[in-house]
Amino acid sequence: MKKINLINLKFGRLTVLKQGETVGMHIYWYCECDCGNHKSVASRHLRSGRTMSCGCLQEEAIRTHGMTDTPEYSVWSGMHQRCTNHNNLQYKDYGGRGISVCKEWDSFLTFFKDMSYRPSINHTLERINNDLGYYADNCKWATRLEQAQNRRVRKTAKLTKKIADKIRSLYSSPNHRSQESLGKEFGVSHSNVSRIINGSIWK
Ligand SMILES: [Zn+2]
Repeated sequence: MKKINLINLKFGRLTVLKQGETVGMHIYWYCECDCGNHKSVASRHLRSGRTMSCGCLQEEAIRTHGMTDTPEYSVWSGMHQRCTNHNNLQYKDYGGRGISVCKEWDSFLTFFKDMSYRPSINHTLERINNDLGYYADNCKWATRLEQAQNRRVRKTAKLTKKIADKIRSLYSSPNHRSQESLGKEFGVSHSNVSRIINGSIWK
């Protein structure tokens, strides 16, 4: 991965002072906030604009504007509804299959400090690993397009011999199906569909 030096750059209220620790693949930077607090922030959160202060920005927003009418607040409360309210229509796909919200996010303020502002109306809160719950490291704001791509990648990863056989049999059946429509139906990339059909994978 290309290494980027962020020292002395400014992101919102944060000025990067020095490089901090590396956790997994993520580099953290030790920053000073305009308010005087210090905070270590991952590169990706600085560069995406997700983190722009030590948290004081969000605290101010809540204090001065209240936040209950904002999109971030409805996302936060919707997340809790899906995970805890048995009467919620989406409960079966969330709380019903063990998806939960971390303790820290009982507080809207903590959620808002972690996730910051929703970048646009086209963004929704997405879990990076769909089998895990709602917590800062497993969540990001994503557009529908990004979510669809994510889902495709996940399905491709679960490609099995059984699916490959099914694709081949549908492709060679009398009412011939296009590779494109087969790819869409099974969530397999177009290039993998052609590899399956020409027998170069999953023989
Ligand atoms: Zn601050």
